[in-house]
Amino acid sequence: YHAKTRKTNFAVFRSEMNRRAYERFQLSSFLRQAAEHNSFELHYQPQVRLSDGLQTGVEALVRWHHHELGPVSPERFIPMAEETGLIESIGTWVLGEACRQGVVWQSQGHPRLRVAVNVSALQFERKNFVETVARCLQETGFPAEQLELELTERVVMRQVEESVWRMRQLRDLGVWISVDDFGTGYSSLSYLPRLPINILKIDRSFVSGLSETSPTYPVVQAILGLARSLNLEAIAEGIETTDELRVLRQLGCDLGQGHLFGRAQPASSTQF
Ligand code: C2E
Ligand code: MG
Ligand code: MG
Ligand code: MG
Repeated sequence: YHAKTRKTNFAVFRSEMNRRAYERFQLSSFLRQAAEHNSFELHYQPQVRLSDGLQTGVEALVRWHHHELGPVSPERFIPMAEETGLIESIGTWVLGEACRQGVVWQSQGHPRLRVAVNVSALQFERKNFVETVARCLQETGFPAEQLELELTERVVMRQVEESVWRMRQLRDLGVWISVDDFGTGYSSLSYLPRLPINILKIDRSFVSGLSETSPTYPVVQAILGLARSLNLEAIAEGIETTDELRVLRQLGCDLGQGHLFGRAQPASSTQF
């Protein structure tokens, strides 16, 4: 009886594996088609100054709606795009589209609006990444000073020396650099002062449920202290409640982003 159960379990396990493998295969071929036809969209989430609520920028977030699968989260398809090498073309499209939209907003009277774009590991590590960014700025006419590239700690720390060198080239273009999801990676703090970065993005996990008594309070306080002493801006991600906002303001956090201020939306429904 025991052996039989194990056999059955294994069969279930195997068919489950096949199903997953098939789903992954299907997703990757759909993704390839989507990349060929540029069937992605960018949504933009507002970033605001916490002292007075002024909108200082937006973060561009990629969206993919597949006619059969429906909306597929970037958390799911970006890793797949990295595995399959599609990230380069998707990432370049995202960069170009965000800059084109930035130019439109500029022409509508928002010259100071900053546009933040997420950059994935493999995209950043491509030899010609800096060139791609430079070309994109040149082709769209979007000012480098209004473009912000978001890199995660993980990306930066993978090959620190290379990364620092590449980030410096990006800074030389005039582009801003932020560290996304700060505090969740494993960046050695001793490297932080050496990184040519401008902004720390405090991860949502520290902001969620933040109050004077929550265990994340001292963490947020420490990150803000670090930002201040390194002369970096700080932006809190994932602000959903007025309580979180109140505490962040009290702690002197410059900027914020989250559902409290607005979700990511298509450019056509973005208002300032
Ligand atoms: P991220 O860069 O940390 O982006 C923040 C994520 O949190 C977004 O999810 C955003 O919609 C969500 N968010 C914003 N405010 C709130 C809030 O108040 N509450 C909650 N619960 N969530 C909030 P999204 O758009 O699903 O993106 C997930 C991740 O996918 C991003 O995390 C980023 O790592 C990646 N991603 C998105 N777009 C791109 C892209 O164009 N290129 C690359 N390489 N990665 C991207
Ligand atoms: Mg981001
Ligand atoms: Mg983030
Ligand atoms: Mg994230």
